[in-house]
Amino acid sequence: MGLYLAKMPMQVRPTLYQQASAIHEAQAHTPKLCPLRDRNQNVTQTQYSGCDVLEATPTAGISYTWRSILKGIHTLKLGLIWRVGVGRTIKIWEDPWIPRDSTRKPITPRGNSNYPSLVSDLIAPLCGVWDEHLIRHVFWEEDADLILKIPIHLAFSDVVAWHPDPKWLFSVKSAYHLTAANEEKESTNGGGGSASELGGQILWNKLWNSCVPNKTKHFLWRLAHNTIAVRMNLRYKGMDIDSNCLFCSCKFEDTGHLLFKCKQVRQLWRGLGMEEERLVFSTKTNAHDVFEILLNMNYGKLALVAFLLWNRWLQRNKVRDGESLRPVEDLIFSVRNQTSSFLETSEKTNSRSSRLLTMWQKPKMGWIKINSDGSFIAESNSGG
Ligand SMILES: [Zn+2]
Repeated sequence: MGLYLAKMPMQVRPTLYQQASAIHEAQAHTPKLCPLRDRNQNVTQTQYSGCDVLEATPTAGISYTWRSILKGIHTLKLGLIWRVGVGRTIKIWEDPWIPRDSTRKPITPRGNSNYPSLVSDLIAPLCGVWDEHLIRHVFWEEDADLILKIPIHLAFSDVVAWHPDPKWLFSVKSAYHLTAANEEKESTNGGGGSASELGGQILWNKLWNSCVPNKTKHFLWRLAHNTIAVRMNLRYKGMDIDSNCLFCSCKFEDTGHLLFKCKQVRQLWRGLGMEEERLVFSTKTNAHDVFEILLNMNYGKLALVAFLLWNRWLQRNKVRDGESLRPVEDLIFSVRNQTSSFLETSEKTNSRSSRLLTMWQKPKMGWIKINSDGSFIAESNSGG
């Protein structure tokens, strides 16, 4: 396909949708574009039968020409984006459909396998608008805000477009720039990150199954990826803002300083009896390591640290917005209170679930089961 696109006259500049249709057409009817290993083989018996051209993968023994075509498809996929029509052909977690510069896929990990899989699942069926409640429940704020701005065209099918161009028009020049930028990025990153992606998925599963309130899970995940909007992170993204800590005279508000090293936050850790843990966290040089230690903590301690970090972040945002600083004793009280209430509720829920699990079961054949009941009062040492 790369050869096919490159041969197109620049002045034609058709939309990518037209090009994609032409390619599909060509794939169905033109043997020249099909990977025939055996000229007597029917076109429909090639490895592309039953699969979308964009999902095609190389197989052993394909020709040089076909390998080049696949390389072209790879380049094309770097700049593709799905425009939402009815949303039935767009896979939420695999396809590029969210208008952002990098992957155009959700940054929210798919935490639950029961979550919707097609974009059409996110559209309210009766009124044809985004189901905001569902979207805000499933996605992080960064994804949800972008999704809710995407226009829906229910009268049309979903179409692929060329994301680098504001008018969705493909050009060889923009594809060249995109490929060059991608190659540079890959060489900087050491050639891709499948291992880290796999590690990320394992950590996410661990976090998802941990005993931490849902509202703090997303925050902790962002902590693991150092994507919390502390001032130094915003400066790295090119924003010209003040980088001073809001609580002390430090000139660099980064995640480590805000959550573990700032003079003010040290009082909070100490007040909660967690100075030892704070010292361990503060020696770590990357957010991923902090996250791993966190997830290996026991049930109660993990909940306490999660509430501590979450409250510290909320407090920081309130101070940034002009609210006065809460005394540290108040914050300590809140963190303790929230943690104990959460643990108490979790224990009740767990014991209810375990009660449900110990249901009466009939005995095996040849046995008689006799059920009895009894109670015991510890204070009076009596029972009946
Ligand atoms: Zn500070």
